[in-house]
Amino acid sequence: MSNDIQRLNQRLASARPSATYRIMDRVAERRAQGAQIISLCAGEPDFDTPEHVRQAAIQAIESGHTRYTQVAGVRSLREAVAAKFRDENGLEAGWQDSIVSNGGKQVIYNALAATLNDGDQVVVPAPYWVSYPEMVQLCGGTPNIVTCDAASGFKLTPAALAAAINPRTRWLILNSPSNPTGAVYSRDELQALAKVLLAQPQVLILADDIYEHLIFDDQPFHTLAQVEPRLAARTLTMNGVSKAYAMTGWRIGFATGPRWLLDAMEKLQGQQTSGASAISQQAALAALSGPKDFIRHSRSVFQRRRDLMVELLNDTPGLHCARPAGAFYAFASCAGLIGRTSPGGRLLASDEDVAHALLDEADVAVVHGSAFGLGPYIRIAYALDDRSLRQACEAIHRFCSAVT
Ligand code: PLP
Repeated sequence: MSNDIQRLNQRLASARPSATYRIMDRVAERRAQGAQIISLCAGEPDFDTPEHVRQAAIQAIESGHTRYTQVAGVRSLREAVAAKFRDENGLEAGWQDSIVSNGGKQVIYNALAATLNDGDQVVVPAPYWVSYPEMVQLCGGTPNIVTCDAASGFKLTPAALAAAINPRTRWLILNSPSNPTGAVYSRDELQALAKVLLAQPQVLILADDIYEHLIFDDQPFHTLAQVEPRLAARTLTMNGVSKAYAMTGWRIGFATGPRWLLDAMEKLQGQQTSGASAISQQAALAALSGPKDFIRHSRSVFQRRRDLMVELLNDTPGLHCARPAGAFYAFASCAGLIGRTSPGGRLLASDEDVAHALLDEADVAVVHGSAFGLGPYIRIAYALDDRSLRQACEAIHRFCSAVT
């Protein structure tokens, strides 16, 4: 029989599986063989969802919130989402200016799928969250990757943005605080980017603010549509409960933006998944409208861990790590290891080799920076207890010290 039956959609066939998932598969394989691996790969807080949120979900089941909801989300949650954008971000949003989806991921995918046509370009600053270029490509667009190196704090500069935009540019994706670098754009930096964007009226902007609340050293958070309200009519401001409230498994993300775009995303979602889980929507409502002490607590824990990690990593031969301003990732240069030999005798020709050798020889899992579009780096997620983090850093230190 011919292999024709297995013919896939061309765009899917050329998409790369997530590098993070590939490493996690290797971790699972090694663990199945009995190895004690410390995984610093996961992009999720290690805390439990707050108690009052869990109770709200139980209550939702008991009181019959178990049916389909409106595609764009139940009105009470959309009101809470709009209030969040007004109160926390200074955006002008009524409940009809909001949409609720199955995680922030679906918001982003649907925005791109609703608007991209073949040949449209999307400016993606690198290092980037692994899903952006793949989603763009799956939706028929072409990612226009703009490298933002350590010298610019891994942030897009106005000059680099201006050089990247052309008549085919449909979107710019901005992510602050950033996965994988933890970089945070200041008000001034956003204002400078806004100046470039004001002169380019064909460009839509996606502000991925999913790590908004994980920002350290009492720095304020800013988002583009707030800093430059004239851009609000073409900015989709996206957020969710995954990272702020330790609710990654509940799958609730949301956004505000121009009505025509939200309407198109709703139309797509209606033929795709329908509304997000009714139970999760009630839980998200409890998170958004409840006490905020959980956010304060997790922020201070992550800040302490960030300080610990930066200190330990910078004390390790061959590694160098700038102090990230947010999220829960350290993005450490491993340039000092490249071209050398691991304790187990492997040539470390790339950051991917470093990540594989760390997993196989030091029992620590990290993701190589080139998976996020910039090498030679390793991304270390410090969403783990202090003891495991110290243990992991000791193992990394032993490995690096024995590199020849
Ligand atoms: N945006 C960024 C930068 C992320 O790192 C993630 C998750 O890892 C998401 C969006 C998606 O979040 P969600 O779990 O709500 O789909």
